[in-house]
Amino acid sequence: MVRGRDTDACPGALQVHQAADGALVRVRLPGGAITAAQLTALAGVSNGLGSGTLELTARGNLQLRAITDVTAAAETIAAAGLLPSATHERVRNIVASPLSGRVGGHADVRPWVQELDAAIRAEPTLVELGGRFWCSLDDGRADVSGLGADVGVHVFEDGCGLLLAGRDTGVRLAGEDVVPALIAVAMRFTEIRGNAWRVNELDDPAALWPGAQLGEGFPAVTRPAVGWIDQDAPKQQGRITLGAAVPLGVLPARVAEYLAAIEAPLVITPWRSVLVCDLDEAVADVALRVLAPLGLVFDENSPWLNVSACTGSPGCARSAADVRADAAGSLETESDVRRHFVGCERACGSPASGQVLLATGDGYRPLR
Ligand code: SF4
Repeated sequence: MVRGRDTDACPGALQVHQAADGALVRVRLPGGAITAAQLTALAGVSNGLGSGTLELTARGNLQLRAITDVTAAAETIAAAGLLPSATHERVRNIVASPLSGRVGGHADVRPWVQELDAAIRAEPTLVELGGRFWCSLDDGRADVSGLGADVGVHVFEDGCGLLLAGRDTGVRLAGEDVVPALIAVAMRFTEIRGNAWRVNELDDPAALWPGAQLGEGFPAVTRPAVGWIDQDAPKQQGRITLGAAVPLGVLPARVAEYLAAIEAPLVITPWRSVLVCDLDEAVADVALRVLAPLGLVFDENSPWLNVSACTGSPGCARSAADVRADAAGSLETESDVRRHFVGCERACGSPASGQVLLATGDGYRPLR
């Protein structure tokens, strides 16, 4: 059995991480959903108290670096409605199919996101989950199921499949049982976890649900949907979602303000992109013309979609190199393989497939 650390150091908005460049604040966004007003608030915090950038994480959250006044930042984040629970802020880890309810899929999982978030916050025991345990809700298109969350649901045509560590268990649930089942698994995990923080660290993950048998996982998706996306869900014809990839996941606060100025619902995806949703054609057309020159990526053939990096130097003291600069520089060489650059063997943010390149201080060597 793999044993985790005894303490959970995963940062949040209140329990921050002291990085080499100052306090790191992570804001959980269940299902990646964020309003324009909330994004404006975070951009303001970053501009006024931080590095002037927002980082998109591999779990569809946002983080702010180099925060000089953590209390003031938390007050602004709370006032924006992004900190609904001081006790449970780090365990609201819910990833969901970002286009659900708007394009494709077998179901609209967004109501489950809200229901699950409320149920997690209502259960005192679940504070013990820690910040790394996460839940996935896949509407059947097989995008977030491949991320290997600790517990999840995948909507099949014959029912809602319960997943453990990203693997189908053979258990099928009715829609009304989805959230109670996810909460039951999370509760059971707190009982049997020992000092494991993730389901795949347990000796027998199937013990989390009666009759569960771990089967196959799902292929990893590593690229976001970008560009002009026609919404085809019922009563949504004519509406457009714009998919904008954010190079290396670093969004300048100034560009975030432009995104917020569209005043549309926004979704942060686990593939470091932003969806700007529910636009009419004229607004989408103008938004595309404004946002593309600001560095957001709308071209599905862009090499930016094939490269990512951890924080690296100077933000992370463990790093052997400025991996973001090196990742950007790597675009000068064509590569068919998706590459993730990391500054140490922790390999933060590594996608489930593709090449992981480790900085040695004298170049890079493949870690995977
Ligand atoms: S992989 Fe290492 S260097 Fe990169 S952010 Fe994580 S801890 Fe820092």
